[in-house]
Amino acid sequence: MNRRKTPSLRTRLALGYTAFFGVVLLLLGIGVTLTVRSALRSEMERELDASGELIQEDFDATDTGLGDYFNSPAFLQRTRPLNVEGLESPSLYVQAANLAGEVVVTSASLQGQRLPLDATARTTALAGHTQLSDARLGDAPVLILVQPIRNNQQIVGILQVAQPLREINRTLQLLSFSLAAISLIALLAALRGGAWLAERALLPVGQVASTTRQIVRAEDLAQRVPTTPGSDELAQLTATVNEMLERLELLFNAQRRFVADVSHELRTPLTAMRGNLEILRRNSARDPQALDLALAAMEREINRLVRLASDLLLLAQTEAGLQLRREPVALDELVLEVVRDLAPLTQGVTLLPDVTEQIEVLGDRDRLKQSLLNMAANALQHTPPGGRVTIRLAREHTHAMLQVCDTGDGIADEALPYVFERFFRADKSRSRAAGGAGLGLAIVKWVAEAHAGEVSAQSTVGQGSTFTLRLPLASEPGALVHP
Ligand code: ADP
Repeated sequence: MNRRKTPSLRTRLALGYTAFFGVVLLLLGIGVTLTVRSALRSEMERELDASGELIQEDFDATDTGLGDYFNSPAFLQRTRPLNVEGLESPSLYVQAANLAGEVVVTSASLQGQRLPLDATARTTALAGHTQLSDARLGDAPVLILVQPIRNNQQIVGILQVAQPLREINRTLQLLSFSLAAISLIALLAALRGGAWLAERALLPVGQVASTTRQIVRAEDLAQRVPTTPGSDELAQLTATVNEMLERLELLFNAQRRFVADVSHELRTPLTAMRGNLEILRRNSARDPQALDLALAAMEREINRLVRLASDLLLLAQTEAGLQLRREPVALDELVLEVVRDLAPLTQGVTLLPDVTEQIEVLGDRDRLKQSLLNMAANALQHTPPGGRVTIRLAREHTHAMLQVCDTGDGIADEALPYVFERFFRADKSRSRAAGGAGLGLAIVKWVAEAHAGEVSAQSTVGQGSTFTLRLPLASEPGALVHP
């Protein structure tokens, strides 16, 4: 697959920054040019207005006819060097026309050329209005003011006063060039500066990435990305990456331990079965008793494997988000049922229910029964003959309380906090002999939590243990959650 290589974040940041800066400069340049242009034109318009007024005043003062005034050598004299009082502009073009639009006179500065006088301008002037317009004199652009000339309030002719726009255009051109040059330099500087800033800003991100890559390559999840001081985005990124590594490490270790534990649990029965098979191969033909013993032992191991497999399957399902049923479960009936089921396995231990009232919870009956069975079977298993195991059901505020109490060996204080962990066995040899893999209480804990309840254990060595499962009553809201 030929994927187009995207430019680095650094380049993209620098380019984006420069582009933004470029747009700002362009808008600024256009704004400045338009403002200066409008200021220069206003100034020129003011000058043309003033010139027109001065000529009108001069005309009034002479008190002669239009043709006479403009054709008099005095006017031509005055306009040649353009020294009508107050007319200082060296490039002022003046042109006068009579009412018919025929040019009567042109100022010397026009050098024989004529200012264009179109019909609209003429009509406007004759209507007594003043008009400003852009026009061309030969090749040069000019701004022309067309106004009526009055003699005693009577319009007697049309006056055109004009100035070349060359100066303004040149100024604007120069301004645009300067702005463009300055902008170009500024943009280059912005590109360079942007690249530098982006590089500086992204340097630590690159470091985080390369350290993380190293960690991944070395498969050493115990390593951490060096933290940076402060609480900026970078510190947050580092903290998040480290948090993630920590979680990954925990999960990874748990996974490793789990696989090791499972293999260990599998190996023991399999080894035992291999031993028995060996015995069978050697002795079965001659010794039917040995055959029976070996088969019984193998059956035991197979049962243990089946139990292990189903426990593991359940735990795997809990991790995959197993859906629990949510139905009313009568706990009093459940206790009696468990006592009945376990009755054949008591081996000299008294197993008694202690149920005084009917209590209902919402949940998964099979899972709840399995939990109770696990706790009660443990109690029986750890209680010597002559002892007593009681399964008590009581109401406690908003919860139902299921208690399995025994008068057995108890659990050492240092082991007590771990009894709900997977594959934990306080007394390895005895528990394994009884077929346990240390998963029973882990399942109880998961079932309790999935029902929004909890399980706890108290124990005194030599006196006995009590396991308590608390579940929200059916009437309580949120009586079942899925962890
Ligand atoms: P197992 O399948 O080995 O019984 P569990 O998870 O049910 O595993 O129990 C974990 C460990 O807790 C057991 O191996 C045992 O040592 C201890 N334990 C559980 N219940 C009792 C009890 N009632 N009395 C004494 N020890 C117990």
